[in-house]
Amino acid sequence: MCEFCVKHGEGKKWYENMKNYSEEVFRQVNSEDRLKTHLSHFYRSLTVDVPRAEAWRKRMPRIYRLLVYPIVTRRLKKSHFGQILPIEDVGRLLEHFPTLVRLPCICRKATIGAEKRFCFGIGMDLTPIFRDLPDFRDFDRVSTEEAQMFIRHLDEEGQTHSVWTFNTPFIAALCNCDRDCMAYRFQVTMRLGKIMWKGEYVASIDYPACNGCRECLKRCYFGAISYDRRNEKCTVLAERCYGCGICRAVCAQHAIHLTDRMSIPRVSRVW
Ligand code: SF4
Ligand code: SF4
Ligand code: SF4
Repeated sequence: MCEFCVKHGEGKKWYENMKNYSEEVFRQVNSEDRLKTHLSHFYRSLTVDVPRAEAWRKRMPRIYRLLVYPIVTRRLKKSHFGQILPIEDVGRLLEHFPTLVRLPCICRKATIGAEKRFCFGIGMDLTPIFRDLPDFRDFDRVSTEEAQMFIRHLDEEGQTHSVWTFNTPFIAALCNCDRDCMAYRFQVTMRLGKIMWKGEYVASIDYPACNGCRECLKRCYFGAISYDRRNEKCTVLAERCYGCGICRAVCAQHAIHLTDRMSIPRVSRVW
């Protein structure tokens, strides 16, 4: 079980603990003013602070890796981080909420200048805060069924799903992301800190069922699938797998399955 589950999950996955979406937990770790300030600086931090940190890392890679990276990761763990979850867990989670708020995706605005609404506000109603913020005020409300359908479609398209804290353990967002996500770039491309934790699962490929088409390899943007030329089959590198499960949608052989991370000792602590 992950450290967040131990601390905030009451014996199960921490993001399935409904208390973490409640106003009660929000008030323990946050306030309207603090959240408003945090969100109003978001765009600037993605477009100014992140490139600045990347320039620093390039200038002093060793110092960044040994000193700055752990500090950044520790801070993000307390303030704002995400964890990947597969579509099945998203489905179960959404059943707890009658409506959701679909929000503009600020990462894609920052990375590719696109206006997309792939981000969902879940749990506590924060729309009075969103209304006051130019980057977030263009939201709409959707029913749980609409959200489920939309997110299933995104899953088939290859978007990974993740829950996000706004002062841990308060969870307020469910994101649907690809390579244009700033969190992905921050962590995987730029290696600036850990902001997006691996999921509670790991994928594996049923070797005899695999026909070596490599569709899964093209889909995985965590570099967790490799191709064995001699046997003409694909395999999952468990240490790299985020357990997002999006590779399954492109496998016509239904050869890919998710397994509980805890049941594989060598990756049970690899987040
Ligand atoms: S985490 Fe994903 S959905 Fe959320 S704002 Fe970033 S790219 Fe958009
Ligand atoms: S998509 Fe399925 S059949 Fe194709 S290489 Fe991947 S696991 Fe094998
Ligand atoms: S191999 Fe792992 S990280 Fe890659 S798409 Fe599949 S589940 Fe996600």
